[in-house]
Amino acid sequence: MDFTPPVRADLVGVASYGAPQLDVAARLNVNENPFPLPDAVVHAMSEAVAAVAPGLNRYPDREAVALRQALADYLDQESGVRVGVDQVWAANGSNEVMHHLFLAFGGPGRLAVSFDPTYSMYPEYARDTFTEYASFARRPDHTVDVAQARSVIAERRPSLVLLTSPNNPTGTSLPIVHVRSIAEAALESGAMVIVDEAYAEFRRAGVPSALELLGELPNLVVTRTMSKAFAMAGARLGYAAAADPRVVEALRVVRLPYHLSAVTQAVAIAALAHAGVLQAQVALLRSERDALAEWLRQKGFSVAPSDANFILFGQFDDRHALWQHLLDDGVLIRETGPAGWLRVSVGTPAENAMFRDALAKAMARV
Ligand SMILES: *Cc1c(COP(=O)(O)O)cnc(C)c1O
Repeated sequence: MDFTPPVRADLVGVASYGAPQLDVAARLNVNENPFPLPDAVVHAMSEAVAAVAPGLNRYPDREAVALRQALADYLDQESGVRVGVDQVWAANGSNEVMHHLFLAFGGPGRLAVSFDPTYSMYPEYARDTFTEYASFARRPDHTVDVAQARSVIAERRPSLVLLTSPNNPTGTSLPIVHVRSIAEAALESGAMVIVDEAYAEFRRAGVPSALELLGELPNLVVTRTMSKAFAMAGARLGYAAAADPRVVEALRVVRLPYHLSAVTQAVAIAALAHAGVLQAQVALLRSERDALAEWLRQKGFSVAPSDANFILFGQFDDRHALWQHLLDDGVLIRETGPAGWLRVSVGTPAENAMFRDALAKAMARV
């Protein structure tokens, strides 16, 4: 019998998401923290896993209360904003948090809006949840056109508005007054606003977090992750702080049973207890970022001002050729963003030096 798996019609021929995972000398393409976890953190994680291992015959704490409490404490320490444990949600990466948000607040007949260029996963969450998706162009300086956003919200009545700050792939932050103005328009039309702050810890001094708006905007959710600043992309832990605890109640309805393993919860709690050590790495990455951005500017490139651990730079007639030259030299960066631009993640000082050398060499060839 000939058999064709009855894949959903809208998924036939669709390729799965994924940046190349290549074994090269400098992997600067997916915005990971390049530093292995410090020994003290590895040790604490190992002890935490050993402590929960005998109990793995039981399902984990479904509500992950201890972890959510630790995340609330961390947000207070990092941003000076105190939220209750009933306002915090956690899942396997902020991708899963976002999936939960689409499951609970999107769906057939509903619309999510975002502002391009931005994170390439958003349309996939929309597709998976049968949510309509519309994206509007950012201005040339990568900010969102606030007046346009407000009128789109009033006219099209989305249920979800996605703002990414610092944005991927541009690295740029949205001014908090813009976030507030867009979120106020969303509040008037009954929409949720999600500020994706995956890169928040890398923001420059004086740049506020949208967490500061939680007290004034009941429709606001701020998502964060341990994948970037915390150097824990492999552990899969993302989280969100919602202004209204009823948002967390709704996410609880759509999550799969026991979605966060006891191992994940234990490892994340252990890492949060060492936030200070990990924040020292973040400080080094921020200064490497600023130095690399300055070097690129001096070389005559256009550079988007970055509050993240990556830099968008350009502009190239043939960016693919340049990307390939760098890869041939063992430096993997990302071909993404507006036409003619490339994105490089900030690596260790040694990796950044490799990138600078490879780029200077490649420029002589294109
Ligand atoms: C990396 C990234 C995330 C984080 O994804 P995880 O699932 O937490 O690893 C979320 N949003 C944006 C914009 C990102 O670039």
